[in-house]
Amino acid sequence: MGSTVLAKGDASREKRQLEGEQDGLSREELFVRGEGLTYNDFILLPGFIDFAASIVDTKSKFTRNITLNAPLVSSPMDTVTESEMAIAMALNGGIGVMHHNCTAEYQANEVYKVKRWQQGFIIKPHVMSPEDTVQTVIECKKHKGFSGIPITENGHLNSTLLGIVTSRDIDFIPEGKHAATKLRDVMTKTADLIVAPYGISLKEAQDILRNSKRGKLPIVDDNNNLISIMARTDLKKRGDYPMATLDKDNQLRVAAAIGTREVDKERLKLLVEAGLDAVIIDSSQGNSTFQIDMIKHIKATYPSLDVIGGNVVTQAQAANLIAAGADGLRVGMGSGSICITQEVMAVGRAQGAAVYNVAKYASRHGVPIIADGGVGSVGHIMKALSLGASCAMMGGLLAGTTETPGEYFFHEGLRLKKYRGMGSLDAMEQKSGSGPERYLMAAATKVAQGVSGSVVDKGSIHKFVPYLINGIQYGLQDVGARSIVQLQQFAKEGTLRFERRSPAAQYEGGVHGLHSYEKRLF
Ligand code: GDP
Ligand code: 5GP
Repeated sequence: MGSTVLAKGDASREKRQLEGEQDGLSREELFVRGEGLTYNDFILLPGFIDFAASIVDTKSKFTRNITLNAPLVSSPMDTVTESEMAIAMALNGGIGVMHHNCTAEYQANEVYKVKRWQQGFIIKPHVMSPEDTVQTVIECKKHKGFSGIPITENGHLNSTLLGIVTSRDIDFIPEGKHAATKLRDVMTKTADLIVAPYGISLKEAQDILRNSKRGKLPIVDDNNNLISIMARTDLKKRGDYPMATLDKDNQLRVAAAIGTREVDKERLKLLVEAGLDAVIIDSSQGNSTFQIDMIKHIKATYPSLDVIGGNVVTQAQAANLIAAGADGLRVGMGSGSICITQEVMAVGRAQGAAVYNVAKYASRHGVPIIADGGVGSVGHIMKALSLGASCAMMGGLLAGTTETPGEYFFHEGLRLKKYRGMGSLDAMEQKSGSGPERYLMAAATKVAQGVSGSVVDKGSIHKFVPYLINGIQYGLQDVGARSIVQLQQFAKEGTLRFERRSPAAQYEGGVHGLHSYEKRLF
């Protein structure tokens, strides 16, 4: 770290103490002029390495009572987090926050799916209707890699199971007839299928699948509606998630967002019944009587449920929410990639300054903070942590992964997915819950605070999140910290050194001087 101040009690560090001037700036010195700095405005100076990156501990707090194995949170946005994302985030050590631009029942059901997730069940299988053709199955195999497709009356989950199509049903159909052959004519009908009842344990379902020698086991409710399926190939896979974020019953953890209206109290009741681990009160400006009253209501009604307040960017805002009982704070206003708040409202704060100032206050009260918005790379997560955040919330960085809601589409040769701000006109017009109310829009003329756009396919969270975690481990190793906890300690003591970056230094720090290049990250 090029420093002379050392972590107390760390004898090996003291032994290696180097003579010399203390280079760079402490965290306090970086912000001493009260400027609106953000992640790209500074860099961390390297420290001393005497350990492997693989031993670096990425454990960090999400709330007062919930610790994550990786400091990664997916944002409550309707193009980012539903059950599939929340399951993948929790399996890989982070946590997902289910959005609320949907009915309370839908949101609670998504939370329920995470809480009762058991390895092996495919909870959102691709389903087709009897009117679909063999061609659609061939396309599915080509794009998604599987051709075992359950067929239901209306072509969706929760509808009567009519049969299943597998590669064996369509193998010998000549190519010329693919588009004209309906699945109703080739599928294996329900009468010839082995199915299992909803609620069956994982072990029982695995036994049925093993003994039946079939490729797929559909799971149906009492009315023969399709709920999920299980694939034989998955029995053979070693599903090992040592980082998984688990509750005391070894079930995955999940959070969800609500608004501050009376109806949100009913919504929360359903979420709690579904097994929710923490609730986020979703406001773009959290310092309001509405939010303070809601926090007090939640703490009085569900004393063991952790509440995350926000969003805040100043110490005064944070003080009110902490006093009301918040167990965590979400920090950021106008820094999101889809966000136009600062442009339209002229209110907000540069994300680096917001994180630093709020964390400084909240840490004195033992309240962890989540750096929300503006995280565009793994380096930004490392910087948020160094400024005092306990974890980072991401929208845009996770958008476009397989586990986000929505379908991929092609545009100019690129495979894209939609990503939109919850305060975009697009989201507000499709309002079917309290999601867009985070922007407190009561007037007839809406004022957009976000945009709607698209992002490139990033592959699966199961590859992307391990990449982020490894990146954080290497970053921590470079500054000589063996854990996030130690990084925070170094930053507080002044042994972690920072330096401002001029625009030219920022240019130099990026790829430059090439005619063309391909940026592959992992
Ligand atoms: P298939 O026989 O062509 O359906 O393919 P396999 O059963 O050999 O492999 C399918 C793999 O894709 C398994 O690991 C599944 O867990 C996974 N998968 C993910 N989503 C789905 C889905 O919606 N349907 C099916 N059939 N498999 C899925
Ligand atoms: P990103 O990770 O894409 O930079 O930012 C995601 C964050 O932006 C979300 O977690 C949320 O706090 C914020 N956000 C989401 N939608 C909107 C919006 O429409 N307007 C504004 N101002 N912020 C948004």
